[in-house]
Amino acid sequence: MDKRSTKIKWHGNEAINMASHVIAELYGLNDLTIENWIFYADVDFLSICAKPRKKTILHEYIEYIYFTNYDYMLDKHFPMEVINTLTGLLDFYNIDYTILGKFDNVGKTDDELNPEEFEEAEDYARELFDFFMDELSPVIIDDIFTVLYSNKLFLFEFNSQLRELILNLKAEDIPEYLKKDGVIKRCKYIPQWLKRGVFMRDKGRCQICGADLTKILNLDNTENYDHIIPLENRGNNDPINFQLTCEHCNKSKGDRSMAFNSLSNRYWDID
Ligand SMILES: [Zn+2]
Repeated sequence: MDKRSTKIKWHGNEAINMASHVIAELYGLNDLTIENWIFYADVDFLSICAKPRKKTILHEYIEYIYFTNYDYMLDKHFPMEVINTLTGLLDFYNIDYTILGKFDNVGKTDDELNPEEFEEAEDYARELFDFFMDELSPVIIDDIFTVLYSNKLFLFEFNSQLRELILNLKAEDIPEYLKKDGVIKRCKYIPQWLKRGVFMRDKGRCQICGADLTKILNLDNTENYDHIIPLENRGNNDPINFQLTCEHCNKSKGDRSMAFNSLSNRYWDID
């Protein structure tokens, strides 16, 4: 697939639908909260969120939920549901999957197949799922990330659940990541791609007082890239824990303050 740049073809239905599923999981729908996910999937979360990476810890969580969602449907023997959804996505993104051979029953429901066709569908669905996970799932996962990255309440909850785990870490066990007091070491610098992403997401506004930091019409304010949950309060350096603030709010915010607002810019007001 071509590298996507600023022109992004995206399947909004799948991204938004799955984003809402990930929100439900974070709040405990099937016991896949952060703590359980890290335990079940044996995730080395500290190596991920000790410094900003483009593939964030949220990408990893989405990937797990996404895989689990379809894997569950296959385990419960709903092959046509999987086939119809995944072929729809592959067609939308113009991905050629003829390598998997011909399958005639696309569009039918599981109930409409005879036993022989059903068996064939189960085999095809597995192969299709593996192909899909390799070829297209990174794109969809990034789309789901893009939806969730604008949801500050979700990010705050995600970081709060990580915080509970960081509180239990012992500095002497992992001195490469933690200071003596158990706080994650500050990342050496905030990369330009992250500053740009946070500035765009927060629409150039301080997320505490709402000051405009775009410098289009005035130069009063300087932008800061601030940890939503401060490192001193067991925050982390993953991109999901950054927000835009003005110099004044950044300086007046205490070392351990978790102050943030979930601001939104409306497109227009209803009179
Ligand atoms: Zn401010």
